[in-house]
Amino acid sequence: MELTQENYYTNKASWHYLSVSNYKDFMECEAAALAKLNDEWEPTQSPIALLVGNYVHSYFESEEEHEKFKQENKKEMFSSRSPYGLKKEFQIAQQMIERLEKENMFMNLYEGQKEAIVTGNIYGIDWKAKIDCLNVEEGYFVDIKTNKDLHERRYDTRYNERTTFVERFGYVLQMAVYKELLEQTYDKEFVPIIAGVSKQTPSEARLIALDEDKMNFEMVELKRNIDHIQKVRMGEEKPEMCGKCEYCREYQRINGFTSMDEL
Ligand SMILES: [Zn+2]
Repeated sequence: MELTQENYYTNKASWHYLSVSNYKDFMECEAAALAKLNDEWEPTQSPIALLVGNYVHSYFESEEEHEKFKQENKKEMFSSRSPYGLKKEFQIAQQMIERLEKENMFMNLYEGQKEAIVTGNIYGIDWKAKIDCLNVEEGYFVDIKTNKDLHERRYDTRYNERTTFVERFGYVLQMAVYKELLEQTYDKEFVPIIAGVSKQTPSEARLIALDEDKMNFEMVELKRNIDHIQKVRMGEEKPEMCGKCEYCREYQRINGFTSMDEL
C-alpha cells in the first residue's frame, strides 16, 4: 500500500502499517486500540490540547494548511464569550507561534520537507511515520512538541523516577522509531531534534537533543512488547482491557469483586 497525505490517517493504512501512536494506544489499552482500529468505537471528541498542537503545527507547515485548519475548526476555536472571539487556548497557541518565530536557530533549522511520510520495517513489522520537518541533505529531523511546562517532571513507573514530558508522552520512542525508519530509507544517519514550546505566558522555547541511551532503552522495550501487540492486532491473541480508560469504563462488566488495593 502506497501512503499519501490523503490516506495516511485512514484505518486501512493503520492495518497495513503500525505507527508510534497506534503502538502507544495498544500499550495503554489493547481492547480500546483494537475497537478503534475496527471502527467500532471512537474516543470522545479530540481534546482542545490536541487542536492547539495542530494549530501550531499547521502554521509552520504552510500558510495554506493553516488557513484550512482554521476553516475546519472554526467552531472549536471561537467563543462568543471571549472578548477577542478567539478562545484563550488559541490566543496562547498564537503566542507560541510568535515565540518560535523569534528564534533564528529554530527558523533556520525548520527547513526541509514538511509532513514527510516515511515507512520501513522494524522487528518484522511494517511501520509508518509522518515527520514534521525532514532535512535529508543535512541528516536531521525536527518535531514540534507543545507542552504546559517544559520543565515539569512527574513520576514514571517505566523509568522508576520523575521524568520529563519527553519521556512521559513517548516522544523518546517516537524519535527513535523515526530515526530508524529514516536510516533504513536513506542509508545515512539522522539526528532527531524536538522543538519544545510551552503553553505558559510568555512561552518558553527550546531545541531539545535526544539521549542516545534512552532511545536504545525504548527500542529494547519495543522489541519486548511488539510480538504480543502484533498478535492482538492480527486477531491471534485476545486483547486485554486496561480497566480504567474511557472504553473500559463503558464496556467492562462487573463479574466479581475488586480488591481495594487494585484500585
Ligand atoms: Zn481500557
